[in-house]
Amino acid sequence: MKVAKVYIEYGSLKVNRPFDYLVPENINITKGVRVFINFNHAKIVGYVVDVYETHKSEEELNDEFGYELKYIEKVLDDKPLINDEIEEIVHYLQEETMSSLIKCYQTVLPPSLKPSSSKIKASKLIKKYYKVLSTDYKLNEGQREIVDYILQKGEVCKDDLEFSASRIKTLVNKGVLEEVEREEYRTLIKDFGKSKWKKLTNGQIDALNQIRNSDNNVVLLEGVTGSGKTEIYLHLIKEVIEQGKNALVLVPEIALTPLIIKRISERFDENIAIFHSGLNASEKYDEYRKIINKEVRIVIGTRSAIFVPLENIGIIILDEEHSESYKQDNSPSYHAKDIAVFRSNVHNAKVVLGSATPSLESKVRALTGQYTQVILPNRINNQNLPTTQIVDMNLELKKGNYSIFSESLLEKIEDRLNKNEQVILLLNKRGYASYVSCRKCHYVFKCPSCDVSLTYHKKDETLKCHYCGYSQNYPSICPSCCSNSIRYIGLGTQKIEEEIKKKFKEARTIRMDYDSTSKKYSLEKILEDFDNHKYDILIGTQMIAKGLDFPLVTLVGVINADIGLYLNDFRAGERTYQLLTQVIGRSGRENKKGEALIQTYTPENYVIREASKQDYNDFFRSEVIYRKERNYPPFSIFATLMFKGRNYDETYLLADNMKKYIEQRDKDIFIFGPVSPYIAKENNLYKVKLTLKYKDSKKTLKLIKELIESINNNTKVSLSVIIDPYQD
Ligand code: ADP
Ligand code: ZN
Ligand code: ZN
Repeated sequence: MKVAKVYIEYGSLKVNRPFDYLVPENINITKGVRVFINFNHAKIVGYVVDVYETHKSEEELNDEFGYELKYIEKVLDDKPLINDEIEEIVHYLQEETMSSLIKCYQTVLPPSLKPSSSKIKASKLIKKYYKVLSTDYKLNEGQREIVDYILQKGEVCKDDLEFSASRIKTLVNKGVLEEVEREEYRTLIKDFGKSKWKKLTNGQIDALNQIRNSDNNVVLLEGVTGSGKTEIYLHLIKEVIEQGKNALVLVPEIALTPLIIKRISERFDENIAIFHSGLNASEKYDEYRKIINKEVRIVIGTRSAIFVPLENIGIIILDEEHSESYKQDNSPSYHAKDIAVFRSNVHNAKVVLGSATPSLESKVRALTGQYTQVILPNRINNQNLPTTQIVDMNLELKKGNYSIFSESLLEKIEDRLNKNEQVILLLNKRGYASYVSCRKCHYVFKCPSCDVSLTYHKKDETLKCHYCGYSQNYPSICPSCCSNSIRYIGLGTQKIEEEIKKKFKEARTIRMDYDSTSKKYSLEKILEDFDNHKYDILIGTQMIAKGLDFPLVTLVGVINADIGLYLNDFRAGERTYQLLTQVIGRSGRENKKGEALIQTYTPENYVIREASKQDYNDFFRSEVIYRKERNYPPFSIFATLMFKGRNYDETYLLADNMKKYIEQRDKDIFIFGPVSPYIAKENNLYKVKLTLKYKDSKKTLKLIKELIESINNNTKVSLSVIIDPYQD
């Protein structure tokens, strides 16, 4: 008797173990395929993790298990969906993220292929082809025409035939034509033609050599936008391909994939697979099968593409490595960079992390020798960076200008409109939060113990810290200058658009934020239209900052640099620096000189100052001091324990008990909380959060694992863990 161990997902049931199913004799089954099974009277899709042979009969097995084992109904895949390496990654994920095994399996598999209770959405693309089988029959004139046409072509796809389906059918029935079904892939890549290889600059040759000769598998390639990083990636891919190996290239966002796909496919004849969440289920299925069938040499994608079962990898590239989208913030809370490093060890491949503004973590690792540091100091053609100017909005207030826009920003917008050039306005907006500050002296209200800005909660008119739970009433007097000009900052893109329309009646404006781009493709449409100069001014949130290249943009205005800066988060400064650098880089990309204007109420803040100077190293030095003094990452590790339950008191109590228990067990772990996160209730479940700060990862993870197991049977409160959380 053959038995298969099958993982399933079933409602909210905690099924973190495989179930045993009998394999019917006529079915051939291997580890790694999906199957249809019956579970609780529902037909669902499961994932086979093991198949074993036993001498026991069905009756004996039923006796042993204590219930009647069921048979597998159907096998869904002809080949395993993942290979041994990916399975290793699943176990690594489970270890590192404290997630359930089934969640880890689901994470490495494309959504359309993951085991679940839902129906299968992805389908193979089957096309019909016709060829001539026999010419012995007597045909009428029309039929003759069809047969001659097909004879001439040899074989014709149904889609390319302009004859009526019924006439074809008649010929098939007569035995004149043969119909063959072929499985095909959907095409995602346009033919971009080919572009020539560029002669590398000395700086690029230097960098390339350093990457080639690095003892370390992981290389941090640091260089401002336009310094020629992508060109280096292309050369690295070329070398790898020539060695018979394959390349995996990640970008942080779907919006950036068309650009990199174009640049890679212009240079290579090899087959490419694309992998990101913008594809529909069937498209993903096709791309995934191309990889399983070893038909591609290069895979391009976003975060989840790090899990594709590409074999024989020679290089993994993460462009814009500092980007937060490489981190999944729900369980399993993995970072694509860690998976890349894991895989590079398996394949002995290089990992190249590219950025103009490396994450603090990566930069520290590069400086301490964990990564090799390679720097591209100049822009190609030594093109200048845009000139950047800080506008002190306090002075505007003093002048009696209470509008969102400074006078100089308005003047410059007007100037660009007159010259028929384009403008980008960035509203720095993250999450739901807004901070509170003093209008007179710019004092920002911060948590006395965590040194991060407090978040304004409108509902109960309080300021709160989301790390430690510190809370105070909305202040009426500034503790620094005793004035009573306290205000909170909060603003939307819609408001900005309204104001712009009031000031510039003729200007064609378009908004890009999460509200305006909810419909599929709408994001691409907006970008395309802006690129075609159907609009003069693009107003948006951080979505517009990355990688986009519009030659007519010569002015970038940052409306409120402060908002992101004073979020209740130790990464607030780093994020704002990255965002400002990126958006400034949008200005003056071609031959036109670019300009950027940063409006702020706190012009003295080091993040604003250094972003305007565009000197990453200066910023890094200041930021690292702040982190070090506070013992924040990368000098420690953060983990969130999120407790969820229907009853607030019960949930809080459990979190509080856990805190006391952990403190007792391990004095080296510092704990913030318990505290409610900004969104304190979700799906009728109350959320209570503990934030752990620690240094010894192994020891702490072991303890967390114990905690998870200890409340596994608790039906009232559940616990999920996020290691190194990026969001509240
Ligand atoms: P980055 O990835 O750092 O932003 P790119 O590789 O995209 O930089 O290079 C910026 C621009 O310069 C691109 O248009 C690219 O085609 C061009 N470029 C890069 N390297 C060279 C080179 N060696 N010679 C000429 N042009 C180059
Ligand atoms: Zn605090
Ligand atoms: Zn003040």
